[in-house]
Amino acid sequence: MNEMKFPIYLDNHATTPVDPEVFEAMKPYFLEKFGNASSKNHSFGWEAESAVMHARKTIANFINANPKEIYFTSGATESINLAHFGIAEAYSHKGKHIISTAVEHSAGNDSLHKLEERGFEVTYLPVNHEGFLDINLLKDSIKDSTILISVMAANNEIGTINDITEIGKICRERGIIFHTDATQALGKIPFDVQKSLVDAASFSSHKIYGPKGVGGIYIRNRNPRVRIIAQIVGGGQENNIRSGTLNVTGIVGFGKAVEICSRVIEEEPVGIKFLRDKLYNGLTSQLDDVLLNGSIDQRLPNNLNLCFKYVRSEVFISSLKEIAVSTGSACSSSTLKPSRILKAIGLTDEMSTSSIRFGLGRFNTIEEIDYTVKRIVEIVKHLREASPLKSVESSGQKQSIEQIAKRIEQQSE
Ligand SMILES: *Cc1c(COP(=O)(O)O)cnc(C)c1O
Repeated sequence: MNEMKFPIYLDNHATTPVDPEVFEAMKPYFLEKFGNASSKNHSFGWEAESAVMHARKTIANFINANPKEIYFTSGATESINLAHFGIAEAYSHKGKHIISTAVEHSAGNDSLHKLEERGFEVTYLPVNHEGFLDINLLKDSIKDSTILISVMAANNEIGTINDITEIGKICRERGIIFHTDATQALGKIPFDVQKSLVDAASFSSHKIYGPKGVGGIYIRNRNPRVRIIAQIVGGGQENNIRSGTLNVTGIVGFGKAVEICSRVIEEEPVGIKFLRDKLYNGLTSQLDDVLLNGSIDQRLPNNLNLCFKYVRSEVFISSLKEIAVSTGSACSSSTLKPSRILKAIGLTDEMSTSSIRFGLGRFNTIEEIDYTVKRIVEIVKHLREASPLKSVESSGQKQSIEQIAKRIEQQSE
């Protein structure tokens, strides 16, 4: 048995370690093959350009696109910004209405808010307690002025997988551009831009065991050809869609990361799901009052998001130094805000700040999961004994605890 390394990394939705095979592929591009992919006059440039082309083809193949439809960016945040701003700008003469959801990543959410400031109208569709949107509500929200629908393929906090094909069909019928944030879906669940009728998709290298600071966007160039206005201008790289010297080393790593995903996409998610289910079953069989946030079956195989009632997640996490997990909440400086996503699925602030996100990955082992279950059971039991939330019950304020319990029951039915 391998010796376990601490801390155990269970935060793979935030980022993943670079796969050693990816790192090996990148190495020559730092010191020897350092050319600028836009240099046309010598072999340094050609070598870099051909490496970029190879990565572009690998990524295109993996999502069933044409290499010409893949553009490299600095990551999913930039890709999503480009999709929202670039498509809004290109189609504003047709209309200024955009439909999205209340549970998009902040890159999507914030760029849409910016568009509202610029005179666009955005409908943020609510989701149910598992994180799903209501397709009929989506259809009813469409107006003549709707130019873009942007719905993520899989959620980064609660792992909910959307039926993007269904949305793709609606968009295609009505002639509306469909963008999806596929950052968490890529490499974990099948993602095919033709089958799903996706017109634009954003993704990132560092969520799939590639380097940070590189990502891509797919933009459909036929049936229909999607128009997009560049948001970063300059040297005209990436067919004038995204200027700036290409991050050749990063792109090579990203390409290799996708190549590995394409090799392991059949079996890896099965193994990771096995570990995830073991973690879930281990915790829920030994602890009471643990609630699953999100859907049980339409869920990313590596995601688990749990509410441990009566335990404050920031206290929990600080007692859990040897296991790297995250709160379901966005930590802005030192103040802990309840997660926008957990709020959207109907959790109270108390439940939201008692939730923990586990993100499993390629390198987790069964020993690590067994250890995690054992430690979390110990810590939760310990914290609950001293919990001010739980002691409310004994100090005569039974009413409020009962109210909380009632709300929890309603949400988990
Ligand atoms: C991580 C993530 C992003 C942002 O990706 P970066 O490459 O870090 O900018 C966007 N959307 C989702 C769903 C993510 O998980």
